[in-house]
Amino acid sequence: MGGWKRKVPDKFLSQSAEETVAIGQKIAKMLQPGAVIALEGDLGAGKTTLIRGISAHCPDALVSSPTFTYLQIYAGSPPVFHFDLYRLSSSKEFLEKGFTDYLEQGGICCIEWAERIAELLPTQTLRIKLTYLSKDSREIALC
Ligand code: ADP
Ligand code: MG
Repeated sequence: MGGWKRKVPDKFLSQSAEETVAIGQKIAKMLQPGAVIALEGDLGAGKTTLIRGISAHCPDALVSSPTFTYLQIYAGSPPVFHFDLYRLSSSKEFLEKGFTDYLEQGGICCIEWAERIAELLPTQTLRIKLTYLSKDSREIALC
């Protein structure tokens, strides 16, 4: 439980949003239920777009960055717990909301701005760093 196996290259170069979705689908294939994925990168880097690909197996996933909530849940097998912690003030707030429970429920946890809760992330967290290169291209690196 909770692991992930590297079956794809460490780095991708994406030339379009659609390609980033497709890369997300490839990454999803190496995930096991319980995997925690920490997405890092500036606003517009493509974190939410990548999660759209990771969640492609969830029929009702309307993946957009949750603006007014920290968490959106997409039903599926396994379910996806999509966090966007941009507005989170501290890891204490994450703890107080009971969110750590989701890290160990056998779903796929995708966390935007995971830097905010660095000390709460499980050791086997898959870190993905997205970098804006130009209008349509992004580097996606697995760490
Ligand atoms: P974040 O969640 O990191 O703030 P989003 O995924 O919400 O970023 O937004 C990325 C924006 O950049 C979208 O408008 C998307 O269409 C655009 N975009 C252009 N090229 C790419 C690419 N190669 N990968 C991801 N998004 C891209
Ligand atoms: Mg986002």
